Amino acid sequence: MLPLVLVILTAQPGVVLGTGLRASTVLVGQVTKVKADEPGTALVMSTDVISPNWGQRWNTEALRAIRDATLGEAVTVELRTPDEELRTLGAVETVTAFGRIRMGKVYVHELLLKQGLAWVLPSARGDAALVKLEAEARAAKKGLWADADPVEPWLWAQQLLLRDDETKVVHSGWDCPHVKTTQCHECGGGRFWSLAESADAGFTRHTCLSGEALRFANASGVATLVERSTDNSAPTLPAAARRSCTKDSECAVAPLPPCSCGSCETTWLEPATRSVVSRMKANYARVSCSPPPCIACAGRVAGAHSTCREGQCVIAE
Ligand SMILES: [Zn+2]
Repeated sequence: MLPLVLVILTAQPGVVLGTGLRASTVLVGQVTKVKADEPGTALVMSTDVISPNWGQRWNTEALRAIRDATLGEAVTVELRTPDEELRTLGAVETVTAFGRIRMGKVYVHELLLKQGLAWVLPSARGDAALVKLEAEARAAKKGLWADADPVEPWLWAQQLLLRDDETKVVHSGWDCPHVKTTQCHECGGGRFWSLAESADAGFTRHTCLSGEALRFANASGVATLVERSTDNSAPTLPAAARRSCTKDSECAVAPLPPCSCGSCETTWLEPATRSVVSRMKANYARVSCSPPPCIACAGRVAGAHSTCREGQCVIAE
């Protein structure tokens, strides 16, 4: 059951502070009026489309693409009534509002479709313009359409890819009868993020990974992280318009969004052009929010300088 939410978004736009579990769920700060658990912020799920879920292939790419396009930017939310499917997903992901998210003249859901990072929902397929955007991305094999058999997020069940370290066999999840009846159930449920990862570790597939379970497993892959370094060095970010530069003096370091708590790990600040950074700072200054509960530990913030390298602002270590 969703909490009763009253969101009035009129003249004053909100500011994008981050995303939820998927790129089509955006955290918006300082909406005019929100009656929810976290006053001042709303987790808005974009209607009409849906992007890959956490644990699913292309989730990371979609999250990155939307952050590179919207983080710290002013947006207006046009509230809409979600279909039943979206409402159910939203309840799981603690969404407080549904609607179309507009940044100037650009809609977030259209942006995702153009980059091949979202599907048009079955309930929105009557919108010919949206279906056309999806078809164009598909024809150009952009984003997730480069995959041989992409699985729609509303079909994709969370694939646990459980590892049985004793037998070196990987299972589809808790539903596998073998997993239910062996000690694997008590092994702590260590998991792989993709079948490729399990193969690299020398694990073989159990027979439970066949048919639809295999198809869904192949659509898993959170390990395709594009921004997490294993050696604590600065992340390598994909090219983005907000980092486009010709010389060092055009680059700066983006501020951390307000209302966020950071993590226990090292958080690298992100590079952006000076104009983007000044816009972000001005937008963040307008945000008033009650921070969500923080975890006890404080992570380290790294990356104080940004330089221009090969046409993109990058963090200098
Ligand atoms: Zn199995």
